[in-house]
Amino acid sequence: MDFTLPEHIEALRLKTVDLINHKIIPLETDSSSYDKHENINEELLLEIRQEVKAAGLWSPQMPISRLGLGLGPIGMSALYEEMNRSIFGPVCFNCAAPDDGNMYILNKIATEEQKVEWLDPIINGDVRSSLAMTEPAPGGGSDPTMIKTEAIYQNGKWIVNGLKWYITGAGVASHFILLAKTKDGLTAFLYHKDQPGWNIKRRIPIMGPEEHGGHCEIEFSGLQIPDKNRLGEVGKGLKIVQIRLGLARLTHCMRWIGLSRRSLEIALDYVSHRKGFGITLSDRESVQVKLGKAAMDIDIARLLVMRAAWKIENGSKARQDVSMAKIHVADTLNNVSDTAIQLCGAKGYSKDIILEWIYRYARQAKLVDGASEVHQMIINRFFNSQKSNFWHWGIGHDI
Ligand SMILES: Cc1cc2nc3c(=O)[nH]c(=O)nc-3n(C[C@H](O)[C@H](O)[C@H](O)COP(=O)(O)OP(=O)(O)OC[C@H]3O[C@@H](n4cnc5c(N)ncnc54)[C@H](O)[C@@H]3O)c2cc1C
Repeated sequence: MDFTLPEHIEALRLKTVDLINHKIIPLETDSSSYDKHENINEELLLEIRQEVKAAGLWSPQMPISRLGLGLGPIGMSALYEEMNRSIFGPVCFNCAAPDDGNMYILNKIATEEQKVEWLDPIINGDVRSSLAMTEPAPGGGSDPTMIKTEAIYQNGKWIVNGLKWYITGAGVASHFILLAKTKDGLTAFLYHKDQPGWNIKRRIPIMGPEEHGGHCEIEFSGLQIPDKNRLGEVGKGLKIVQIRLGLARLTHCMRWIGLSRRSLEIALDYVSHRKGFGITLSDRESVQVKLGKAAMDIDIARLLVMRAAWKIENGSKARQDVSMAKIHVADTLNNVSDTAIQLCGAKGYSKDIILEWIYRYARQAKLVDGASEVHQMIINRFFNSQKSNFWHWGIGHDI
């Protein structure tokens, strides 16, 4: 078992670290870097994206033939955690949700004609995208089989009616992947923002900072989608989003590890300089125990993510591994950002540093792309069917 990164991935990782440390992290302390939803402002983003492209780090997760760097999940794990040591990082490299997961699924299952029309503009950074799946009760949430948004086939077109919510990025997206109920189950579709028959009802206010385009409630009232813009086979939509969410969940974990690492780095810096009751805080054993526990939890997170990445790269769906990583990394991000605030005292609670940003952002990690309880249910499903073989070595049976 060799955990050494291949040379070309290590070289890209070091270049990413350099750009994050010297260019992107310094932007966080300047209030003019932010838009009104607490993300990097669009003008600055455009400028940084050009620098990322010039540095040869753009869209690392996409194939070389489509102008990416051709990295698989292992290389992505190594780079994404470095990128998200800055709260602005992933979107600067075209590695932020939801574009990241949408590009992955389009690259995997779209036809070549669909890739040229719907995928390449996202890879190039010319447009943004959204995945529209979740609905308010009584529609589909944790259980997508309850989806009520309906697509009815009429004369070569699909007519869509229904309601979705929490659709990340919908306010700025041009390309949408939609999951709707059809006669033979759920089916995935592609549509463009300029098509009539849908609208954004509202941008839902949330507790944390927002991705560009927010989290929107969107309504479909007779949206017409030509059959050529159906993604995959009729009735196979659930399978398609499961493929998308498998890796998308893991890339969330990769990024969240970066946020966890950064939180702990900030805390370590503070306690290394702050004195109290005659000694430096970092010399106090109770502080060391907190830091040691958090550092260990982050490393457990990295091992879980890298194992899942390795399995996926070797042909497995790694569903139980992805679920374990998703639960553990979400908890780690919440716990570590909380510990870091505690260790920084009042400064940790202020807006002078980014810990409070990360802390508010972190709460969604236990909900998005499957609530932790749903992932526990999935893990139990595998345990129940595999019994003692659940703890196997190697790629496993989940292929
Ligand atoms: C910030 C943010 C961004 C999002 N972005 C998108 C997006 O871009 N596109 C999209 O389609 N959706 C998006 N979502 C929606 C997200 O995927 C759903 O919120 C999530 O799948 C849970 O669905 P729900 O909210 O309907 O929860 P519900 O299904 O109503 O569940 C509520 C709670 O019940 C519990 N629960 C549910 N099922 C079980 C179970 N089987 N066992 C035990 N407990 C259970 C869990 O605690 C769960 O949190 C986003 C959500 C957030 C908060």
